[in-house]
Parts: sequence; C-alpha cells; structure tokens
Amino acid sequence: MTASTARHPAPKAAPISILPRCPICSDTMVAAEASVLSADLVVSHLWSCDNCGCGFVTRHPQKRARRTHRGAMSPRAQSAQVHL
Ligand SMILES: [Zn+2]
Repeated sequence: MTASTARHPAPKAAPISILPRCPICSDTMVAAEASVLSADLVVSHLWSCDNCGCGFVTRHPQKRARRTHRGAMSPRAQSAQVHL
C-alpha cells in the first residue's frame, strides 16, 4: 500500500512559506510569543526573533465563520491585508 501514502503527503503540515520572517535578519519565526484576538476579529501575534531579538506584530483579520471550501488565500495575499 505504498502507492496510497505517496498520493497523500501530510496535508496538516503548515507550509514553511506562511511562517513570518524577521524584518531584520530574515530568520523564520516558528512560534509567536503571544496572540490576541480583538473584538473586531483581528488576531495579532507578537513575534520575537531568537536570532537578533527583533520584535514585531503581525495582524490577521479573521472572517466570520463561513463554511466555504474555496481554498485559502496565498500568504502574499494575506500579508497585503496587514496594516501595521
Ligand atoms: Zn532577527
């Protein structure tokens, strides 16, 4: 049954391209220091770079619960919505 496992490569694994990068040293961030969901459904993540110590915040507007399967936006489209 090796053919079936080859057809379904780990769908749960987050692509590394969606992980934020440090604006100073471009190191990839793995886990946010803190996350906050505000009343206007914006999730803010506080990141701290282990390499250079730079701290920054990413904001991710959440959509109201809609059950759609139209595919996720690309990471670039999401970052275009961020207004720091
Ligand atoms: Zn850094």
